Amino acid sequence: MATLSEVERIKAASDGLRGSLALSLDDAPTAGLREDDQQLIKLHGIYQQDDRDQREARRQRKLEPAYSFMIRVRLPAGICSTGQWLTMDALASEHGDGSLKLTTRQTFELQGVIKESLRPTLQAMDRALLDAIAACGDVNRNVIAGAAPDRPALQARLQADAVALSEHFLPATRAYHEIFLGAERVAGGEPEPIYGPTYLPRKFKTVIAVPPRNDVDLYAHDLGFVAICEGDELLGYNLCVGGGMGTSHGEPSTYPRVATVLGFLPATQLLPVAEAVVTLQRDHGDRSNRKQARLKYTLDRLGTDHFLALLNERLGEALQPARPYAFSERGDAFGWQAAGDGRWWLTLRIEGGRLRDAGEQRARSALREIASRFDLRLRITPNQNLSLIDVRDTDRAAIDAVLEGHGCAPQALSPLRRDALACVALPLCPLAMAEAERWLPQFAPRVEALLAQHGLADESVGLRITGCPNGCARPYLAEIGLIGKAPGRYNLLLGGDRVGERLNALYRESLDEPAILAELDQLFGRWAAERHSGEGFGDFTRRTGLVDGSSPHPAPRREPA
Ligand code: SF4
Repeated sequence: MATLSEVERIKAASDGLRGSLALSLDDAPTAGLREDDQQLIKLHGIYQQDDRDQREARRQRKLEPAYSFMIRVRLPAGICSTGQWLTMDALASEHGDGSLKLTTRQTFELQGVIKESLRPTLQAMDRALLDAIAACGDVNRNVIAGAAPDRPALQARLQADAVALSEHFLPATRAYHEIFLGAERVAGGEPEPIYGPTYLPRKFKTVIAVPPRNDVDLYAHDLGFVAICEGDELLGYNLCVGGGMGTSHGEPSTYPRVATVLGFLPATQLLPVAEAVVTLQRDHGDRSNRKQARLKYTLDRLGTDHFLALLNERLGEALQPARPYAFSERGDAFGWQAAGDGRWWLTLRIEGGRLRDAGEQRARSALREIASRFDLRLRITPNQNLSLIDVRDTDRAAIDAVLEGHGCAPQALSPLRRDALACVALPLCPLAMAEAERWLPQFAPRVEALLAQHGLADESVGLRITGCPNGCARPYLAEIGLIGKAPGRYNLLLGGDRVGERLNALYRESLDEPAILAELDQLFGRWAAERHSGEGFGDFTRRTGLVDGSSPHPAPRREPA
């Protein structure tokens, strides 16, 4: 029998995710945690990080790294109240680095929180009915859901289902409440009825998508539900399993994979089906090699048909055949949109998902004023942007005025700038090999200029950058994916499609910025000259054989719409 991985040992010995976390937090001589606790704290939604910009200087001064923590909020469907928004905004100033990070999985991250501030921060969140439970680690993480702003009843139903999934898969342990919120331990401990004592073999991501918009990147998720509707009525969901983005450079046994569509279920079966998939992964996932532990590898190892048979067996009945659906869009719908119930949505572009006051553009202040003055809710999008939702018609002009007064009036951005994504990467992500979020604002305008030179300024080209192959900004589903290889060097991947159904492929390795721009210059020139009418850049690079059209990992299996 293969040896269990070190993280499995830590989880098994953790006494319900408690470990020595309480002691670690009170361990004054260091700003960091004990080694095992660094793993355990992830399952409470927190990562220990250090400022890599300071690492070398501190090492030379014989100081420990500049440790701080990232807190990721559990926020199903990305929706919060104005009071919750104001709480997070205040915490960003009081205990964070002065910014709010909006993530590709529809939630907030507070970065730069020191160890002593973890408890006060989580306690303030708790008072606002927010938590970070299971936002990271080997559990079902924040459940995300797509947007249907013009179908309010459906939107409400999808949000309710995202909340139900999130709550259903919360760990039973009270460790978070005891360690961070000061709750008493209840004698006898708690069994974990769904996860068991060692939780899942690896992280697990769940999504609800609403055709025709694939804003959630359905196929990048371990577990996906596609809403099948008749008008505004939800009939049920198509089930997708086995998507995942992370790889390791130079290790072909690791690969990105698009999720496979397995069948249809009535909406009432959402939780039993989800639980059957989660427990199959719990029981069959690889617990010896974390690089092979995601559901995508379990699915490929078992085979789709066998996995489906096991799933049907657990359910006691067979899934129905998948129903037809089709995606035609992917990015967020910016600007004002009528919500069909007399209310409005306003979606704002937040580049790199980073919300701060910077010079004349005081986005955080603008949103603080909006959340303080108006009756609405806020929704973080899966593309790191922000929607103001449930806005009264009578408030629209005043909200526009607040944005304008803070230098944040929505601007006409090119499609490339509007939809580009970047992960956090340096200086805080411990896995980053290259810049991403900090590089995007300089790099994207240069790509924009190239497109303009070739008469392509109005074309939509999906650009996504990550600092490592872990793929948090889902770069393997981009038309242009840039994946950090070393400082200033990136692998260039091409050939994804516009709606996120097809993986891209490696085109050139380890390029610096001038080399990337030179490659894109000649590729855009060819695209402008040789493209078929309306042909997207990713489709063009595939059709012309610039990148390999054959993928070892199959496209989603489904009926045509
Ligand atoms: Fe960090 Fe890599 Fe994720 Fe970027 S993709 S945030 S560098 S782990």
